[in-house]
Amino acid sequence: MKTYNIAVLKGDGIGPDVINCAIDILDKVAKKHGFAMNYSEALIGGIAIDETGNPLPDETIAICKKSNAVMLGAVGGPKWDDAPIRPEAGLLGIRKALGLFANLRPAIIYDALKDASPLKAKVIGDELDILVVRELTGGIYFGEKEKGKDYSLDTMKYSINEVKRIATVGFESAMKRNKILTSVDKANVLESSRLWRKVVIEVAKDYPEVTLNHMYVDNAAMQLVRDPHQFDVIVTSNMFGDILSDEASMITGSIGMLPSASLAIGTMGLYEPVHGSAPDIAGQNKANPIATILSVAMMLRFSFKEINAANDIEKAVNSVLDLGYRTGDIAIESETPIGTNEMSILISEQL
Ligand code: NAD
Repeated sequence: MKTYNIAVLKGDGIGPDVINCAIDILDKVAKKHGFAMNYSEALIGGIAIDETGNPLPDETIAICKKSNAVMLGAVGGPKWDDAPIRPEAGLLGIRKALGLFANLRPAIIYDALKDASPLKAKVIGDELDILVVRELTGGIYFGEKEKGKDYSLDTMKYSINEVKRIATVGFESAMKRNKILTSVDKANVLESSRLWRKVVIEVAKDYPEVTLNHMYVDNAAMQLVRDPHQFDVIVTSNMFGDILSDEASMITGSIGMLPSASLAIGTMGLYEPVHGSAPDIAGQNKANPIATILSVAMMLRFSFKEINAANDIEKAVNSVLDLGYRTGDIAIESETPIGTNEMSILISEQL
């Protein structure tokens, strides 16, 4: 039987709560579709600091590198806020170690959850589905830094190859969707953005079916709330993507629903919910497991090409929402919320 090796990094706070649900769902869907999963657990974040003094122990990197894909819960919490090395350093470290250069974040407003969006119903219109493709290992977050006596410096640097590979992910993603790609930059001001735009236009020649638009980042931030339906896939640099993907997720109104994938060249990927470790509700059976369950669906689609299994999970989530079940984060006042485990069991039953 085809077996996939998965590194499981539960992390801190609600990380273990939601990852345990995702594993149940994965096992169920694997059985149905005739493949098997082999899990190897490893430490990351605050728990790794507690047990080894390091938010990303070498053993964790080794286990991830030996695996076909990585599932991550979340890291961080008040306990480590003043630690000399913070748990979040584990996240940046694993992205770099695995060469995860592309971050894919779908922002979807489900029909059943339209009321959760802060946007007016007429702006949301029919179901909204945007994919933000963010460059993850270059740009200003990783450029040269300097701290002088009376100044500080961060450098935004992109090479042709870095832009080419993320643009390719953007075009490939658009090809699988509605074939509209918006490349977001600040080419009126930044040299690195002028290179970005030039390379994206070059890559576009290989994708004649995709409609390519360019947009300045300030305008993109405004257009996302003015008329989000104009977007299908957005491709952008590390910092702009950080900001725009948070904005796009906020318009869905439910952080507990949003999955993400971070991809390397080839089939390796790290799959995690967009939300953090939510220490306020950790271990209380209150976390919404859907973001992590949908991240597992992304893993099946992007790393393993198990498209039918991925579709099954997404359909099961939709059905449970259509039936009216809600965890606390997506329930409106008149609804009685269900717990993490109940939500997971209901999704499993739909499968
Ligand atoms: P958070 O996403 O953890 O929580 C924000 C709010 O959303 C909280 O009220 C929380 O209860 C709620 N929430 C989050 N996920 C939920 C879920 N699945 N179901 C129901 N409610 C949910 O963000 P924060 O409070 O800013 O950060 C808490 C810790 O998480 C910090 O240490 C932060 O650094 C860390 N963090 C980690 C990641 C990551 O691991 N990728 C991302 C963001 C924040």
